[in-house]
Amino acid sequence: MELDNHAEDLASDLGIDKEEVKADLQNLVEYSVPIDEAKQSLRRKYGDGSSGGSSAPSSKEIAEITPEDSNVTVTGVVLTTGKRSIRYQGDDHVIVEGRLADETGTIDYTAWEDFGLEAGDTITAGNASVREWDGEPELNLGESTSLSFEADSIEVPYETGGDTQLADLQTGDRAVNVEVAVVDCERRTIDGRDGETEILSGVFGDESGRLPFTNWDPAPEIEAGSTVRIENAYVQEFRGVPEVNVSEFSTVTALERAVDVGVETTTMDIGAAVATGGIYDVEVTGNVLAVREGSGLIQRCPECYRVIQKGQCRTHGDVDGIDDLRVKAILDDGTGAVTVVLDDELTEQVYGGTLEDALEQAREAMDQEVVADTIREHIVGREYRVRGHLSVDEYGANLDAESFEERHDDPTVRASAFLEEVHS
Ligand SMILES: [Zn+2]
Repeated sequence: MELDNHAEDLASDLGIDKEEVKADLQNLVEYSVPIDEAKQSLRRKYGDGSSGGSSAPSSKEIAEITPEDSNVTVTGVVLTTGKRSIRYQGDDHVIVEGRLADETGTIDYTAWEDFGLEAGDTITAGNASVREWDGEPELNLGESTSLSFEADSIEVPYETGGDTQLADLQTGDRAVNVEVAVVDCERRTIDGRDGETEILSGVFGDESGRLPFTNWDPAPEIEAGSTVRIENAYVQEFRGVPEVNVSEFSTVTALERAVDVGVETTTMDIGAAVATGGIYDVEVTGNVLAVREGSGLIQRCPECYRVIQKGQCRTHGDVDGIDDLRVKAILDDGTGAVTVVLDDELTEQVYGGTLEDALEQAREAMDQEVVADTIREHIVGREYRVRGHLSVDEYGANLDAESFEERHDDPTVRASAFLEEVHS
């Protein structure tokens, strides 16, 4: 349903002005408050005591809950619990998120009030509202939920606590605990929602792999080369790949032990890699089919650093462009295709010259396209092994290359391997 329709619904139920309600709704939804929770909150604000559903919710086992349920009563064990701050009606609001389990299954929950949940607690949530997220039901525990702690705990076939490895983390995971080495770390100043603020960003690694992180409230234990245990982190997508978020509610402790960072990059078929929807640090091998437009010698806007055409930035208009080199190459392995993006350094390697050389070649030819043409001659039709960060969005799959190496397989070796296969 459109926001407009929700606003109309509420306005007629509550007998108030639709535009006023709509502005409130908009505000809540912009801060990721689920629409049902937003509507309930506005019903409370405008003085309707009901919580939306009038019939008493039925008791359900977790596996039975579907997104079509509006309200349910559930008994289960709290597997994980983690706090996170969101902006809600103009104020910072702390929510608690995690996973609840019974004998039949697990379900994610969001508590809009602090009920004091702890991992291992057996609880009964009466009148919890159900929302759909990514096709799956989730529980909202709010003001209209009656929550009680059970003295007798129930046995569930799931582990409590959120200990996990980086390779198993997925966008949307909450209340996770990891033990990692800080592979890379930089301090940056960003324009946050409360003005300028310092954050840390970089890369974590463990035995299973590597993932980028952001630490919104810089912890002194997090510095390049250190090893730390982090409790209550959450995973959010950033530029198409999962990122570990360490917030003010996360606990960071220095570890005595070393953490071996797996050097093995995940090697995948391009089709399978694209199907993941985005993956940090992946290796694929394929043939360069083409070098796309916007490759070779390019100009960037000095303000926003985006690529400009004929001295025109889409945002900043007429600008004095900065010269740069890059390649966007289509790599295909038969299972799928990605656009591999090479930065200036990798582009210099495949071009076989520096930015100055490229400018010189363009001046002589009086055409900057000659640089892309030279690169085309060097790489199209050849096989490359590419390692980098894959992001997938509506415009396609982009692989930001960290390394781009030609496969120098000796054809005679390949032929004998093939013969061996045939004869075995
Ligand atoms: Zn610009």
